[in-house]
Order: sequence, then C-alpha cells, then structure tokens
Amino acid sequence: MKIEHFPKEIQPYIIPKCNGSLIYRCLGCGAENGIEKLLYTCPDCGEVLLIYDQNFSRLKEVPGNIWRRIFDYRKMVTIPSLKGIYLYHEFIGPVLPLDSIIYLGEGHTPIVEANSYMQEKAGVRFFFKNDGQNPSASFKDRGMASALSYINFLIQKGHLTDVLSICASTGDTSAAAALYASYMNPHVKSAVLLPHKKVTPQQLSQPLGSGASVFEIPGVFDDCMKVVEALSEKYNVALLNSKNAWRILGQESYSFEIAQDLEYDMKNTVVIVPIGNAGNITAVINGFIKFYETGIIDSLPKIIGVQSEHANPVYRYYLEPDPKKRKFIPVTVKPSVAQAAMIGNPVSMPRVIHLVDRYNKLADKKKVFFIEVTEQSIMEWELIANRNGHIACTHGGETLAGLVAAREKGIVDKNDVAVINSTAHALKFSGFQEMYFENRFPAEFHISPKKDLMNSPVLIHPKDLKKVPAPGKPLNKNDFHHFVERVSEEIAKILELV
Ligand SMILES: *Cc1c(COP(=O)(O)O)cnc(C)c1O
Ligand SMILES: [Zn+2]
Repeated sequence: MKIEHFPKEIQPYIIPKCNGSLIYRCLGCGAENGIEKLLYTCPDCGEVLLIYDQNFSRLKEVPGNIWRRIFDYRKMVTIPSLKGIYLYHEFIGPVLPLDSIIYLGEGHTPIVEANSYMQEKAGVRFFFKNDGQNPSASFKDRGMASALSYINFLIQKGHLTDVLSICASTGDTSAAAALYASYMNPHVKSAVLLPHKKVTPQQLSQPLGSGASVFEIPGVFDDCMKVVEALSEKYNVALLNSKNAWRILGQESYSFEIAQDLEYDMKNTVVIVPIGNAGNITAVINGFIKFYETGIIDSLPKIIGVQSEHANPVYRYYLEPDPKKRKFIPVTVKPSVAQAAMIGNPVSMPRVIHLVDRYNKLADKKKVFFIEVTEQSIMEWELIANRNGHIACTHGGETLAGLVAAREKGIVDKNDVAVINSTAHALKFSGFQEMYFENRFPAEFHISPKKDLMNSPVLIHPKDLKKVPAPGKPLNKNDFHHFVERVSEEIAKILELV
C-alpha cells in the first residue's frame, strides 16, 4: 500500500524518523557510554550493558492507540527495511537510518494454535510461535539483524572498516551470525567457535555454507565463550554473542509481535521461553516493559522461563524466595537435548536479575516465573507436538513441557492463553528424534523412549520378489506389474486395509 493511501493522521508516522539518543548503560556501576564505539562490557567495572534511549519519553507523547495503528498500518508498507523487526524501529533502533538496515526475511514468524487434542492434553489454550521459520531457522536472526544493521551503520559512517565478527555458539548463534555477515561480504568476515561435537550436523553445515571460518573447541559452550571473550578483549573484533547489547534490542521484536498478533490485549497472556545464555528472556521482558510504558499494552503478560534439569542455573537462583538471600552459582551442565540452551553460566544473568525485579514492580505483583523440566519430558512433548501438526525443536518441546509443568503448579490458570516459543526449526535437531526412535540415548541423558512415541521406516522387499527396480534399471512390463502388486499387498497388510 502506498503512503498516500493511509489515513491522514497516520501518514506522518509511517516512515520512522531517525531520532532517539541511545547509550550503553552498565548494570553494575551505572556508567553510561556513547554508542559510536562497539562496547560489550563496562569499561569501568566489566559488567554487562543494556542499551537505553535517553529520549524514550518522547515515545510516550504518542498515545498508545496511535502507536497500535502505526504498527498495524506499517505492516502494509512494502519498504524492505520495515518488513522485518524494524517495523518497531522507534523501539529497537531509532538511530539507524533505513538504508543501514539489513533485512533477510527475519521476524513476523507465525503463531500457530495447537489443535484441540493438544490443548486438552496441556489443560490450557496455547499457541506455538514458530521462530524456527526465521531465515537461519532460529530466533537468533532477530538479534543478528539488529547487531549487523548497527555494524553496517558504523561502516557507512566511516567509523569501522574490514570488520571481523566473532562468536561462540551452541549452534544457532553461529548460523545466524555467519548468514548475516555473509550478506555484508566483502566488508564483514566472520569466525565462529563451536564446542566440538556439541552442535548438530545441520547447525555445523550452516556457518560452513555461509563461508565463515569455523573453529571447533574441546569442552562445552561456556568454554568457547571464555575463548571468544579473550579474543574480543585482545583484538579488534566484533563480538556477536548476546553479550552484545544490540542483539538484545533486536530480540525484543519477539514481544512486540506477540502483542500485535494478540491485538495488544495481554490480560490473560502467558509467554513461555527456554533459557540458555538468558539473552532471549532478557529481550522478551524488556520488550514488554517498553510497550507497557508507552501505553501500547495496558497490562504485562506473565513470563515463564524454562530450563532443563541438566542446565538450570537460573531456575536454581530463583528457588530462593528472599531476594536478599539469592546467590548466583554457575552449574556444570550435563548432556541435554535442549542443546542450544545447555549453558551453566549465562552471560545475561545480571540483566535477568535487574529486569525481573523491574517487571514485577511495574506489574505490582510477581509476573515472571521459572520452571524446571526433565529431559524425558522435553523429548516427549516435542514428539507429541510434532505428531499434532507442529514443527517444534527440542527447545519447543522444552517450553511445552514447561507450560504443562506450570499449569500443574498453578502458575498458569485454565483461562490463560499461552504463547510458547519454538526457538528453532525441528529439522535442526532431528538427530535427537532419531536417537529416541532408535533407543540410542547414552545413559547420562536420562531418556528412555516410549514404544508409542517411537517410529521407524519399514523396508518392503518381499522375499519371493526376485526382481526389483533400481535407478537406471527399470523392470520389464510383467516383472514390474508383479512388483507393484506384491509390494502394495504387503503395505495393505501392514496398514490393515485387508
Ligand atoms: C540460543 C537458543 C536458546 C537459548 O536462548 P538464550 O538467549 O541463550 O537464553 C534456546 N533455543 C534455541 C533454539 C537457541 O538457539
Ligand atoms: Zn560498570
């Protein structure tokens, strides 16, 4: 739709203006720094940062109902830079000119309602938001679109040249980083560090295909992260882990989309996400806070963070009800099918602590919860979801298991409506499905397959069939007729059609 066809009062807002005044703020000492330079931690105290808009109050001058109409009309605009996460430009990157924005098709992933069988089984109405339908097949693209658009902006302004981007990854960060960096060829080169044998073959193929330098490191993600941190402190590289606060900004779009897709009515809404490095839950909380403060939504949804028993430092931290007595203790992770969340020392923990407190205070009651689930339940709920029309990855299974557990604990009421995050596409993690079907899980996973959830292909090759077709070697008419007849007979027998 062309701008001149929009309602007169919305027209001036359709193309976002470049204003706002972003700064990095340290969550430790409160120090503020300008964004002209890439910063990952506070130069004074070393804590993580969040990006704030010093002019945020200008967004409150536009009434909530006008914002809602701006976003709804903006969805009809055909300008590529506004088709993805920057539909919410004013809230996630107000300093970026539209021609700096990198858009590869990320964002606006569908929310798909579970069928009635599933809703009955879970005891509550719920939707999957399929973030596996992003370009590199995980939600990480939201944050990369933001981080790389900002880098592009710095390159265009002449503040940066010949960028080498670098990240540690449990698989999906590197896939997204390598994809977005490759789009900026030849100005950006990318290097990714992966824990050896701890990412799936599909995830490994992604940065290789995008032309990144791929390094496999002994150990787990937390070990890779330390190496990347050492590299980024010593050398001139652009760190693309969620320590980079620009990643958080882009991932806030997830919350904005949920608000918009549910017509900005958050009253009975529950948003459930898995937690690994805790960047995503940071962004989700912050996103809803921004929409609440500007009157775009008039209540804050419940937010539930889910962790596996095998990687549960955030869950453990919040087990202590008294905030003064809480103490963060990193855990040593055990093998998990929610492999992208297998992190014992989440980088964003200080952000979570800060924002959970803020969120609950704004809501005037406890609205953020944490749940732990077993590996067994993660696998089972993933398989059940996908037997009912979904494309959930193991982390999607984890959020669904979390919903069911939260429902049992009374955190989720029967009148609530839940939106659960399938953070990646099922295909990225199909190896775990295979291990389940073939009963091949090593003991330390604590997963024993149930017969009725297993599945395997059946080879039909009747013993009496002497001749079968092969590529390039068709059968003669009679043999072929016999082949078709015998094979269909066998299949019909197994399917109990006869
Ligand atoms: C990264 C990732 C997570 C964990 O998100 P964090 O922001 O690290 O907490 C969960 N699921 C998938 C598929 C991921 O790629
Ligand atoms: Zn500081």
